Amino acid sequence: MRFIDREEVSRRLTYETCIPLVRDAMIAFSRGKTKQLLRSIIPLSEGRFFGIMPGAMGAHGVFGAKLISVFQDNFARGIPSHQGLVILFDPESGAPVCLVDAGEVTEIRTAAASAVATDVLARKDARRLAILGYGAQAQTHARAIRKVRDIASIVVWGRSFERAQAFTARMQAELDLPVTAAGDAQEAVAEADIICTVTGAMEPILKGEWVRPGAHVNVVGSSHAVPAEVDNDLVVRSRFIVDSREGVLQQGGEFLRAKQAGLVGDDHIVAEIGEVLTGKIAGRRSSDEITVYKSLGHVVQDLASAWALYSQNG
Ligand code: NDP
Repeated sequence: MRFIDREEVSRRLTYETCIPLVRDAMIAFSRGKTKQLLRSIIPLSEGRFFGIMPGAMGAHGVFGAKLISVFQDNFARGIPSHQGLVILFDPESGAPVCLVDAGEVTEIRTAAASAVATDVLARKDARRLAILGYGAQAQTHARAIRKVRDIASIVVWGRSFERAQAFTARMQAELDLPVTAAGDAQEAVAEADIICTVTGAMEPILKGEWVRPGAHVNVVGSSHAVPAEVDNDLVVRSRFIVDSREGVLQQGGEFLRAKQAGLVGDDHIVAEIGEVLTGKIAGRRSSDEITVYKSLGHVVQDLASAWALYSQNG
């Protein structure tokens, strides 16, 4: 069986490769061509869990599963918080054929999914990016969003100003554009056209009242029903687009809080991103509308990425 390690994923799964793969996967997903079970999460100790995500790219497509541990305390220890494997089964023979490093695939495909959403939902003239968080996803989002908009500057916020500064210095050197740290989240987003929330926050770190008219927000950090990175106000005020309607109705922390507060109904989810990409449902309707893309992450994104690495022999 082939094994594709972290280094190979990082080298070969470029954003030029991954963004179109994820785009096609989300279209197929919303058309009902792919199959997957709702992600199962086994809580371990505090802040640690084990996720199991099985799926198939269609009746005749690759199938498999992502097995991933999430240890949030790893970040402070300098170890990746998401580690695991994607296992691929050959659609012709049914045999398991490849194991792929899931941590690296997750880092890249999640940012690619946000880039797909940003491309279709953000204003064409969006140039100022704000990132809340400075972990692995913050790094990949800084790289990926640049592939779909002409980003002129990035402002970063996180709980530790020193860590934010270390991150911005690293990213500024890599990306060769101004990347600065903000003292608080409100300051970070004040001028932003595009905002990515990529933290492990349990309670909202972003308020709707801080977000400029016309901004696009990728809400990425909460992948299950309890944590919420953005407040009810932003959910209510935004054109709310999701990766999976079923997923967000069961595991979308921000949406569920607004719903439980009686502020929105299920019809507040206007579309899945796959429906916007095909033109079935309109995304942004005006230049001053706030759009939100709620990302939970789906195994079809992992399978599409991992299968491309396996089948296109690097
Ligand atoms: P990392 O562990 O690399 O980084 C975590 C980041 O969150 C750090 O910036 C950390 O900084 C910050 N953070 C942790 N707790 C809080 C808090 N209470 N308030 C504010 N900031 C906090 O994780 P990743 O970058 O890999 O992932 C970020 C989030 O995205 C995670 O919650 C993860 O589960 C989620 N995720 C979502 C995916 C999707 O498809 N939607 C896929 C992959 C990940 P500090 O502790 O210094 O504050």
